[in-house]
Amino acid sequence: MGDSMSKRLKLVTASESEMEERSFSNPFPDWDQGVLPSSPSAANSSTGDLFDADGKITEAFQNKVQNKIKDLLQQMEEGLKTSDPHDFSTYTGWTGIALLYLQLHRVTADSSHLQRSLDYVKRTLRNLNGRKVTFLCGDAGPLAVAAVVHHRLKNQADSKEFLTKLLQLQRSVISPDSEIPDELLYGRAGYLYALLYVNKEIGPETVDEKIITNVVTAILESGKNLSREEKKTERCPLLYEWHKKQYVGAAHGLAGIYYMLMQPTAKVHSEILTELVRPSIDYVRHKKFRSGNYPSSLSNETDRLVHWCHGAPGVVHMLIMARKVFKDEKYLKDAAECGEVIWQRGLLRKGYGICHGTAGNGYAFLSLYKLTQEQKYLYRACKFAEWCLDYGKHGCRIPDRPYSLFEGMAGAIHFLSDLAQPEDSCFPAFEL
Ligand SMILES: [Zn+2]
Repeated sequence: MGDSMSKRLKLVTASESEMEERSFSNPFPDWDQGVLPSSPSAANSSTGDLFDADGKITEAFQNKVQNKIKDLLQQMEEGLKTSDPHDFSTYTGWTGIALLYLQLHRVTADSSHLQRSLDYVKRTLRNLNGRKVTFLCGDAGPLAVAAVVHHRLKNQADSKEFLTKLLQLQRSVISPDSEIPDELLYGRAGYLYALLYVNKEIGPETVDEKIITNVVTAILESGKNLSREEKKTERCPLLYEWHKKQYVGAAHGLAGIYYMLMQPTAKVHSEILTELVRPSIDYVRHKKFRSGNYPSSLSNETDRLVHWCHGAPGVVHMLIMARKVFKDEKYLKDAAECGEVIWQRGLLRKGYGICHGTAGNGYAFLSLYKLTQEQKYLYRACKFAEWCLDYGKHGCRIPDRPYSLFEGMAGAIHFLSDLAQPEDSCFPAFEL
């Protein structure tokens, strides 16, 4: 017994040290233990620095964030000079930077940001290659962002031109014999996002409803087919895989696809939502770890990754949307559990980005805050932002594209800039 016990202990230690390698233990006092802003000792507590008596983020903290944004933008611009000139993607390339400047224009109304956005998106357009169709990694990203930037600049003819090119990509997306996957980074859901994005930014009728329906139908058919093949039509009527693996997370998996299908602007019929999407979401819910986290794929049973791309920080967005669509409190409960595990293990050693970094995990709190209006979540978002204010000082790994929107600095700046108006915050290339 002693032997098996020591073996078990060793196992525990091994997995714990592994865990430690992935995230920092959270040094911040939690909200429940924190001091409420209205109490007399508030001035001395970290909570007191963050919120004024009305529960709003204090001007002092907002100023700190604004100054850091300026500083990081300068570093980013310098660093981008040596970045891959041909990477046009939203994920790691120039479209991501154009999107960041669009965001800065939205929150500051400074027209120089819009001009910058145009400059960056222009460089992408000569590099498009027709190989991929998604917003994050394919041609749809640059084309959609170009259409939006030109629309904001009131260059309607140019905007139209890019829109037309965006819509030309639909053929390969809806063709039933195309090899295209369904997930967000490389698949149909990533094209669907591009269409919903231009409808949100330019106007609700910009992309014809019929086109959106065709893309949605292709996603549904693909999911039904795999579910049938895997004999899961009862338990999980919409099943998807990427590179032969049934991923769960937002980037490559079920959560990202269901999240897009539930968008009100995708106009998926309520019967389909109830009969196909909802049971599939419940199937994913049953894969939840005891910690509240989710596996990276259906066949994976190790509770390791707490990233937007794999784990609770991505799945939480699906749960929040499920709560809105199906009005069932169980989704909120699971989303709140995601919030707990992200708070515990969400300060990542991989860096400050949004795909698998601390800023992306901070967005989970902003989304929970938008849904619940609970101050606790705004507090947690601010604490993760505070962590990002010490950018580069924690000895994190440096990502391959250190200034990019999804891996690096641009993503952290995007997150910080969303603290100015937390109610309107929006995870780029994902939330709508
Ligand atoms: Zn990632």
